[in-house]
Amino acid sequence: MCFNCRDIYESLYSQDAWRAELCHDLTEILETKSCYQLQGSAYNNYSIFCSQNWKNSNNVYCDLCVGGGDCFGCVGLINYKYCILNKQYDKEEYERVVVKIIRHMQQTGEWGEFFPSILTPFAYNESVAYEYFPLTKEAVLAKGWRWRDEERKNYQPQIYVVPDKIGEVKDDILNSVLACIHCGKNYKIIPQELEYYRQYDICIPQQCPDCRHLSRMALRNPRKLFERQCDQCGRDLKTTYAPDRPETVYCEECYQKEIY
Ligand SMILES: [Zn+2]
Ligand SMILES: [Zn+2]
Repeated sequence: MCFNCRDIYESLYSQDAWRAELCHDLTEILETKSCYQLQGSAYNNYSIFCSQNWKNSNNVYCDLCVGGGDCFGCVGLINYKYCILNKQYDKEEYERVVVKIIRHMQQTGEWGEFFPSILTPFAYNESVAYEYFPLTKEAVLAKGWRWRDEERKNYQPQIYVVPDKIGEVKDDILNSVLACIHCGKNYKIIPQELEYYRQYDICIPQQCPDCRHLSRMALRNPRKLFERQCDQCGRDLKTTYAPDRPETVYCEECYQKEIY
């Protein structure tokens, strides 16, 4: 159950991981060994339940820590070791107190899970989770997670006429307010963007950045495995291509024979 991962070995339940070994539950990870439940982190060893940690070892429940290691429940530390809740301990004292905390957390049922969702600054429907696993507002609230209602704004209609061909688009587009053909939201074109479209001969987008993002996401396969048969030999296989999709899907053996 690993999706969009490269060079990962003996690992499970991960997405967007690159070069990982002996890991479980990774999301957006680079160079990681023997870690469990890590998010947005790189170059870590033996760390668990951490978010946005760089170059650490043996960290537990840490966020935004860089360098060092052997820290528990710390935030924003750089090159520190043996800290608990950002307070420095010596090695023996650290090990003694950490065991005590873990025992307590085991009793309260807090130990063994990633940071609780109540700590996230984002509502479910503004997170990446929602893009892969969309839920209704009712379902989200029933789980005790937050939902952000769309702010109602009076969007302006688009007056500026955008030429179809990028070569005919003038610089005054940079001062114009455009309106999404899909949702009506207003958006602007910035100079670097215009330069890019001109360089690659791409026409000006007619959708707002949010709708463009959703269109791109719709091109990705879901984070889900479907039962399907190889279109060559009929063998059962698991694939992110749903059985009703038109693409031809081969098992690994038939694919290797066909391609190499
Ligand atoms: Zn839109
Ligand atoms: Zn086959």
